[in-house]
Amino acid sequence: MVPVIALVGRPNVGKSTLFNRLTRSRDAIVGDIPGLTRDRQYGTAKWQGRDYILIDTGGISGDEEGIDAKMAEQSLLAIEEADIVFFLVDARDGLCPADEHIAAHLRKRDKRTLLLVNKTDNLDVEVARAEFSPLAVAETLGVSAAHGRGIQQLMESALAGV
Ligand code: GDP
Ligand code: MG
Repeated sequence: MVPVIALVGRPNVGKSTLFNRLTRSRDAIVGDIPGLTRDRQYGTAKWQGRDYILIDTGGISGDEEGIDAKMAEQSLLAIEEADIVFFLVDARDGLCPADEHIAAHLRKRDKRTLLLVNKTDNLDVEVARAEFSPLAVAETLGVSAAHGRGIQQLMESALAGV
């Protein structure tokens, strides 16, 4: 079985940047405009000889209407399809109500979730992780999708025992 990993989180936290880094493609649209990826996007990737499938999503903010509601729906479908969820948050923005909303949804599912505190570029990773401890996700890692920090450790933890 090829494991499926879904990238979820509110818009602009770096999901597509991580997707592109892991799949080494430019398929996912990366931009400063929140909500640019409107659909689920699938990619294949390999980590130390192991194949896995990644799903990029548009994002969930928790108060969606119209097109945003569709994006949120796609994110929820991606969570259902996945074996593992990478739940991304933004270390520079800090904890947001939308993060709490997503965490509450994930708590209701019985799905392995890794909390990725992204954009820790040159921040203290321990301080950044501590800020998100109210989300109560057991596995929390500091990463920088743009610069590659923490990605090796992330994939080792994610695929161990899968
Ligand atoms: P998405 O909406 O969650 O898919 O977010 P994107 O991947 O489109 O990224 C949103 C913005 O955050 C872009 O300007 C990225 O370049 C930026 N970004 C993503 N990862 C990092 C990171 O690790 N550090 C910094 N400083 N910026 C990042
Ligand atoms: Mg995106």
